[in-house]
Amino acid sequence: MTLYRATVVDTPDDPFTGGALRSEEDAGLLVVGGAVVARGSFDGVRAEHPGEEVVDLRGGVLLPGFVDTHVHYPQVRAVGGLGMPLLEWLERCALPEEARLAEPAYARGVAADFLAGLVGAGTTSAMVFGAHFAPAVDELFTAADASGLRITSGLVVSDRVLRGDLLTTPGRAVEDSLALAARWHGTDRLRYAVTPRFSLSCTDEMLAACAAVLADVPGAWFTSHVNENRAEIAEVEALFGGEHYVGTYDRHGLLGERSVLAHDVHPRDEELGVLAARGASVAHCPTSNASLGSGLFPLRRHVEAGVHVALGSDVGGGTGFPLLKEGLQAYFAQALLGDDGYALAPAHLLHLATSAGATALGLREEVGDLGVGQRFDAVLVRPRAGTTLDVGLRHASGPDDAVAKVFALGTPADLEQVWVDGERVGA
Ligand SMILES: [Zn+2]
Repeated sequence: MTLYRATVVDTPDDPFTGGALRSEEDAGLLVVGGAVVARGSFDGVRAEHPGEEVVDLRGGVLLPGFVDTHVHYPQVRAVGGLGMPLLEWLERCALPEEARLAEPAYARGVAADFLAGLVGAGTTSAMVFGAHFAPAVDELFTAADASGLRITSGLVVSDRVLRGDLLTTPGRAVEDSLALAARWHGTDRLRYAVTPRFSLSCTDEMLAACAAVLADVPGAWFTSHVNENRAEIAEVEALFGGEHYVGTYDRHGLLGERSVLAHDVHPRDEELGVLAARGASVAHCPTSNASLGSGLFPLRRHVEAGVHVALGSDVGGGTGFPLLKEGLQAYFAQALLGDDGYALAPAHLLHLATSAGATALGLREEVGDLGVGQRFDAVLVRPRAGTTLDVGLRHASGPDDAVAKVFALGTPADLEQVWVDGERVGA
């Protein structure tokens, strides 16, 4: 049993439907067995539980752990390939590195780098795009299990367009996926996600194989890419006889409440309607969209259509793991859209990086805020004295201003401690 004393800020109520930031300057959070069992003013909680060990986290801001809804494990070493649009970047930068994961020892090193990147950025839960090789995915799950993070991932499958060493067949995809799911789905904090790379690289037979795996693994997730780049979209429509991109997944029954599609920068209105009707979520990856020149994300259209949106780092198309940076870039993108943009307040940024991600990954009952009944997945932002963030936090006019400063200035160097289920991770 531990009583944490901290300034706590979270978003239990969705700011897109009127919720505000919740903040307590001097809060007490009593954590028992990894769960928050009492919360209130420190003095109040302390008076009710006088004998508990107190951990003093003052001098910073305690936030819920970040939830990254789209991030590629094999691309941690490929971050920073600037100067190319999507299809050229895949060909020259991402896919050659992904091919190296055919060697399990190499994959093991990448998995370690990847998980260190996540936890260093304060990310406690993630939907992770796996590798094209089953042994490499096994390496990821093994390392993820040891890390303590909440990881959902799976074998990435493709049967056309990509370089030959990344391709498989629908039959082998089913066999390998089921074997990985049998080993890892539901083990500790791990879950399996059926993961066609994108319908550009998957025939209808492969997408049908994905549907077969989804039907065979109760509670499995589905993730892929959609509507990222105009050249990609045109190729998909040509390959599928003019069908819209969302439809290429939907016609195989792949979309539902346990589906997360990355990007959706250029959706048609009818595609937003399908995503909303299925209850699927979109992973918005703003630094990737900017870096690859994919476009400015139409957040307002998603919100108005009722499509759930959360943040993804999209490492390595994105420029790093920190969701603080993604939140800031999301804010920039909406500002640049002018009247078409959605004016994001600090509460929206924190929500998109925490509770919205938890909802997208079906974890909202357990994580996403720091209220009573939630698991203690948390990150302590406590900058070194004298840094600009430290100065900003000490002079913040209130919790919204403090959160704005954390997103504007915060880096992994400012994240002092990270917990999952009440246990320190990455320390
Ligand atoms: Zn991606």
